[in-house]
This record gives sequence, structure tokens and C-alpha cells, in this order.
Amino acid sequence: MFRCLKAVLQRPSTFPILLSGNNPSCSTLHAFQKVKRALHCRHCLIKEPKFKTYISSAQYSTAAGNGPLEVTRENSREILEKYDTLLIDCDGVLWKIDHVTPLPGIQETMSRLRDTRKQILFVTNNSMHGREMYVDKFRKYGFEARGSEVFCVAYAAAIYLKTVAKISKAVYVSGSRGMQSELEQAGIDAFGFGPDRDQTTDDVEQLLQMEFRDDVEAVLVGFDIHFSYNKIYKAASYLTSPDCLYLATNSLETGPLISINRRQPVTGTMVAAISAASKREPLVIGKPSCHMFECIQTMYPTIDKSRTLMIGDSLRADIQFAQNNGIDSALVLTGVAGLQMVKDTGILPTYYMQSIAVL
Ligand SMILES: [Mg+2]
Repeated sequence: MFRCLKAVLQRPSTFPILLSGNNPSCSTLHAFQKVKRALHCRHCLIKEPKFKTYISSAQYSTAAGNGPLEVTRENSREILEKYDTLLIDCDGVLWKIDHVTPLPGIQETMSRLRDTRKQILFVTNNSMHGREMYVDKFRKYGFEARGSEVFCVAYAAAIYLKTVAKISKAVYVSGSRGMQSELEQAGIDAFGFGPDRDQTTDDVEQLLQMEFRDDVEAVLVGFDIHFSYNKIYKAASYLTSPDCLYLATNSLETGPLISINRRQPVTGTMVAAISAASKREPLVIGKPSCHMFECIQTMYPTIDKSRTLMIGDSLRADIQFAQNNGIDSALVLTGVAGLQMVKDTGILPTYYMQSIAVL
């Protein structure tokens, strides 16, 4: 659905949008120009979802009635007292969705949270890296974490294969070096990482000559910068066996816009290609799947759901994950979702906060 941006700005009471709401220093005109530039909006046409970050808190409350409670610096201590365990997403919560830029105040926030002595676990769907990389990245941003506190989906997939699916033979993987590290540490015979060694071809004779292992019990798909035609062929071929388990680290994110007219293919794209070729649907490990929580419970069996809070920036991954597992959630507005999206999707967090830095 398209709306005229100029009309929206001229009739703010008609549309639940306050362009200066999240940035009071911007004049309306400045905000208008900023949005227009960001959207490359030559004809003043704008996709409705792009307004999502511009709805103000006050307007959200009015629109949503009994919507989620905002966590502020004033009430955060009282709210945190209800929880013993915090599950914290990373991309869009600790750093921006560019995976690089730390969010302001993150070092001080983590220091305050550590002082509360609560159990903190980092739960991320990003399959590019293993736990070691996250520990290094946290240190770079000024706070410490142990590898055992990081539930990246690569690690969760390894736990699932080893302890839930009890795979004892080989796993064909289209995935990252981080996944390779986690699977090796779990003692899983995993192969397929890096560029495929066979020459790319559409010649059936040559395709038939490619080597296949006969001990493959599972195919695992995650983020893979070396994804290729050969990998689709091999994964789909292994999956012709109904006994071969098909796992994906996550499938929600298929291709986010990283700039104007630039869309980055991510894990969901690769999973969709292999699913189409194999005519099978994967068992998804990452959020919002309950399997991610199963993996957490495997390592932390005493975790109390009624005293656990999931903090994340994605409604479909983090907040839905919390709902699927019967735990409370807090949406941070520093990532992929805004308050308008809460209204549109009906996926309601327990709380929302402008940034994790209010804690
Ligand atoms: Mg995130």
C-alpha cells in the first residue's frame, strides 16, 4: 500500500505518524527530507512499512490502548526484579543491524546488568559466526561474556544434532566457518564448507560423476557466502533419502535492504533454494522455533520460564520466540521493528524500550 508522504506530513492527525517523535531535534521539514532521501522517493511515494520507525511512543499508546508497557530508566529496576534470566538478542540490540556499530551506552548497560547478578544468555539467529567470535566481539565493545553464555544458532544446531537428533554419522553442510567450528567442537563429522570443489556444470553426465558420501544422516543449511548450484544439487540429492534429516539454522530473514536498491541475500534465501530443489521443508533451529529454547534448556536445565525475559529487536524472531515458549519479552526499537509493526502484526511484546541502554 502506498501513501503520499506530503499528504501525511500535512495531515499528521490523520496518520499515526510523528516524524520528530524519535528525534526531537529534527524539524518536520528536515525529517521529511531525510525520509525522502532514505527512500529515494522521487515521486513522494512511500511504502507504508517504511514509516514504522517514525511512530511516536505517545501515539502508539493511544492507538494500541492496553499495549505493551514502556520500560524506561525510571521503572527498569522494578521490572527487572521480576526476572532471574535475561535472554538477549545481539544484532539490533547490542549493535546496529550493520553488525558493526555498537549502540550507544552498551558497555555501561552490560556493566549494570552484570551487577544485578542475573543469568544473562545471548541468543542470536545469526549463523555467520560461532561462539568464540561473539566473545571476542563483546570484548571489543567493552564487556565480557563466557562462551557458555552465547547461544548462537550455529552452536544450537550442533547441540540439536548431537543431543536431540543423536546424529552419529555425517552431516552435509552449506554454512559458515563459524558453523564448522561449532560442529567440529561437538565432534560431528560435518563436511561441505567453503567453495564446492567440483566444477560447476549443467551436464547430466558430469553431475552424475560427482562424488556423494553414503553415510550422510542430515543436511544443515545456514549462512553460506560460497552458496552455489553444486551445493543445491548435492543437498537436494542427499535429501532424496526420507531418512536424511533436513535442518536450517533459520529461515525468516531472506534478503534485507542494506541500502537503497541493494538487497543482501541471507540464510533464508539459501534455505528457500534447497527447499525448492528438494521439495522438503526444514526443521528450523533458530528463533522463533522452540528448538532454540530446547537447546538452552539442555545446557541450563534449571531455567525458570516464568522468571525469564527475552530482549530483542525482531517481532517475528524474538518476540514470537518468547510467545512460543511462554516467556515474557521486551522489544527494543533500535533494530528492525518499530511500534507500528507491533500494531500491524499483532505480535505483542510484554514491554518495549527505546534501547537496551534504559536498563
Ligand atoms: Mg536482532
